[in-house]
Amino acid sequence: MTHSASTNRIEAMVKLTSDFVKIPSITGSERAMSEHVSSLMREIGMKVSFDEAGPGRRNVLGHLKGSSGSPALIVNGHIDVVPPGDASRWSVDPFGAVVKDGRLYGRGSADMKGGLASVLTAIKSIVDSGAKLKGDLIVEAVVDEEAGGRAGTGRLTIDNPVKGDYVVIAEPTDLELQTAHKGDLGVEIRIEGHSAHAATPEMGINAVHKMVALANQILDIPRRNQWEKRVHPLLGPPYITISVIEGGLQRNIIPDRCKIVVDRRTVPKTESLEVAKKEIDSVIQEAQSEDPTLKVSYNPILEIEAMETDQQEPIVRAMVDAYAQATGAQVKVSGLRGFCDAHYYSRNLGMPVVIFGPGRLQQAHSADEYVEISQLVTATEVYKQLITRLLT
Ligand SMILES: [Zn+2]
Repeated sequence: MTHSASTNRIEAMVKLTSDFVKIPSITGSERAMSEHVSSLMREIGMKVSFDEAGPGRRNVLGHLKGSSGSPALIVNGHIDVVPPGDASRWSVDPFGAVVKDGRLYGRGSADMKGGLASVLTAIKSIVDSGAKLKGDLIVEAVVDEEAGGRAGTGRLTIDNPVKGDYVVIAEPTDLELQTAHKGDLGVEIRIEGHSAHAATPEMGINAVHKMVALANQILDIPRRNQWEKRVHPLLGPPYITISVIEGGLQRNIIPDRCKIVVDRRTVPKTESLEVAKKEIDSVIQEAQSEDPTLKVSYNPILEIEAMETDQQEPIVRAMVDAYAQATGAQVKVSGLRGFCDAHYYSRNLGMPVVIFGPGRLQQAHSADEYVEISQLVTATEVYKQLITRLLT
């Protein structure tokens, strides 16, 4: 039996992704994966450097220098994965990289070792073809994304910034081109009252009652600020959610403490973290001026700015063209309702960034996570076209 060249290429691609999946690089324990990726980068002809993110944790940078050094394309992929969770919910070994019915199963197969494997396969094929690059290509294989990315992409945009002209993040998008993601402001609000016997409530200050009133004002923020005018074409409306409420001790005690946690999802352009903070701030100020006994404190616990890259940016045009050339079809442009590391590039370095990769978001973090092998193949071809288009 003979194997065609394309069958061999697909087998090599599956092997590379399987090798990644078999390394259980759960956030914080990425060392073996960093080593594996760096030796693979060297093997395909890239120069490797490291950014030390902490004990045993390294961000890996693979460089392919072009003759003119411009433009520079950064491709980002995180090497950490979330834990597999309850083993009984898996029908396969989470780190076994089982291949079945055109799918490769395992933790990280979709999120996002398949994307990183596709990127490196595309680069290998460009290098092997003998094509010479004019611009620079930098692959950033980062740690810590699943814990917020501060030690990963955060370090490469803040502490040890690597500048480039465009960024592609190979997170799973089901091969859609995502040009925007929402922001996320997390705020903790505490009210302090005064405890008393519930039979003599006038002796105390009921923190829960005060929080109920304040919470209702917070939930009225969308109406007060006409959020219906902020619906984003790719991301939909902003959201505000009270996701935690805690307070009180027992039935017959006037509660002296109450806490809520607010999750505020912002859309790009029409609002920012600053706007979102001010909206909450003004509700609190108003409540305080109406009630001098109100003792309220609040502090942000998460600040992720929304991201949007203009459709006219060269990286978006190049992705659209690369996809058309690789597949003969038009790429679907969409937005990410959650967020990924993209905001680090746009906020800290002002770089245009897009997200494109194999695998579906609903597979990420779930039991029996898988990536379709056909998507790995298509993504590889799209990355290859993209790199060729931008850098040769
Ligand atoms: Zn991911």
